[in-house]
Amino acid sequence: MTDMLAKQLPINGHIWQETLHWLPSDEQQGLFEQLYQGIVAGNRQVNLTRITEPDGFWEKHLWDSLSGLAPWCEPQKPEWLPTVKTVIDIGTGGGFPGVPVAIARSQWHVTLLDSTRKKIAFLQTLCEQLGLTNTTFLAERAEVLGRDPKHRAQYDLAMVRAVGPASTCAEYALPLLKKSGFAVLFRGQWTDEEEDLFVGALDTLGGELVAICPWETPLTQGVRHCLYVKKVAKTDNDFPRTVGMPAKHPL
Ligand code: SAM
Repeated sequence: MTDMLAKQLPINGHIWQETLHWLPSDEQQGLFEQLYQGIVAGNRQVNLTRITEPDGFWEKHLWDSLSGLAPWCEPQKPEWLPTVKTVIDIGTGGGFPGVPVAIARSQWHVTLLDSTRKKIAFLQTLCEQLGLTNTTFLAERAEVLGRDPKHRAQYDLAMVRAVGPASTCAEYALPLLKKSGFAVLFRGQWTDEEEDLFVGALDTLGGELVAICPWETPLTQGVRHCLYVKKVAKTDNDFPRTVGMPAKHPL
């Protein structure tokens, strides 16, 4: 049987503009489409995502990934915003948020990190097919990378989506950030009780919660929160703890 091409992604230009004050160029829209077709095709070999319908992919992968960049898109950028050159997407899975971010911000260099070698090998091939030259691929655990002097305190921005509790994500991200770098943690629901625990964990790791951006996803009104954490002090050498500890015993 001949494989059918997946249906095309919507453009939704007015939604990009109204929500994120940003609009993909024709070239970026073309890359999003190639990314979508590549992921749908790759999903037959590697378990990358359950979301393969065009509207769902657009909303839950593309729009959701780029919602984390909203402060960089605003007409009036907040004064806490750092200058970014180096980005790491921790636990990138099928490439989210890292690949859409690399497409939307070609001047940023995005490292895609995941502990599953098959996913990273797939992403490397796909990004080469897309012609992206601002991406690097690492099959490793965040706990190992955070103790490697080649990576510790080297990144301006870390992004983490759907990798575990917020304090686990912070323990992966903060050791990798330069002082004054930022982590963007993508969360669904977010409660005051979670925030109290999280702020305590950040104290231990040298982080400060600077902003929380609440969102409703634009097609199905799902609840989202992007947390912006600044690295205000060097992370103690005890962190990240050994492989598995941040997930098993979140701070
Ligand atoms: N961030 C993607 C997204 O939002 O679609 C993928 C989320 S998926 C649920 C979690 C991913 O994190 C998996 O691909 C897993 O292999 C990776 N992961 C979990 N713990 C990790 C760790 N300690 N270091 C590196 N990758 C990790």
